[in-house]
Amino acid sequence: MSQEPLEKMMFQLTLRRRGISDQAVLRTMEEVPREAFVAAGDRSHAYRDSALGIACGQTISQPFVVAYMTEQLQLQKHYKVLEIGTGSGYQAAVLSRLCAHVLTIERYRTLADTARDRLEALGYFNIEVMLGDGFQIPPGAGDFDRIIVTAAMEQIPEKLLERLLPGGILIAPVGPHHGSQTLVRVTRTDSGFERKELVDVRFVPALPGIAREL
Ligand code: SAH
Repeated sequence: MSQEPLEKMMFQLTLRRRGISDQAVLRTMEEVPREAFVAAGDRSHAYRDSALGIACGQTISQPFVVAYMTEQLQLQKHYKVLEIGTGSGYQAAVLSRLCAHVLTIERYRTLADTARDRLEALGYFNIEVMLGDGFQIPPGAGDFDRIIVTAAMEQIPEKLLERLLPGGILIAPVGPHHGSQTLVRVTRTDSGFERKELVDVRFVPALPGIAREL
């Protein structure tokens, strides 16, 4: 399934040109085989810098956005990371190479099951895929060094910010469900939360509850 070296070279160049400079992030983007996460019919487009459709009417994010959000998280090897919106599992795979453990939550059973099988088959053993609602993280899951939301939220729930450990960072697309959102980075400081707006993005909506459809 390996892609043309030229395509992968262009993929790296695009990420660098768009401003990704963290070497560990660039290396990880090179190592994680995006073609294994897209629909079978899209494999030849896997290294284009665009979002692609997956099952359940959802999308695998654009590679630049995956790299950018990952870079903004400033991951360290011992961190525990929460992702809301597993989708294909691609973002979780990228995160998992740069931290200790990833818990990723998805509201569609089909997507959660497919991503779990795929990640296991590819040898990503530090990722737990959970069927659930990212607005209702089970208390038993503990708190996190980093939280990444990969679906658009109209606002960031207070409850979610409270799951950040001291010094923790959350990054989420915030804005209307249809249209574009702003990527927001929230840092938990000693005195509260510091919020910074980054770039405009477009994500599918974060919806409450486990999906009734498969
Ligand atoms: N990170 C994914 C892309 C995410 S697309 C990847 O790398 O492929 C957004 C995903 O968020 C969709 O699969 C959608 O079903 C899921 N989602 C939306 N609302 C959610 C919620 N409340 N809890 C968990 N997942 C949610």
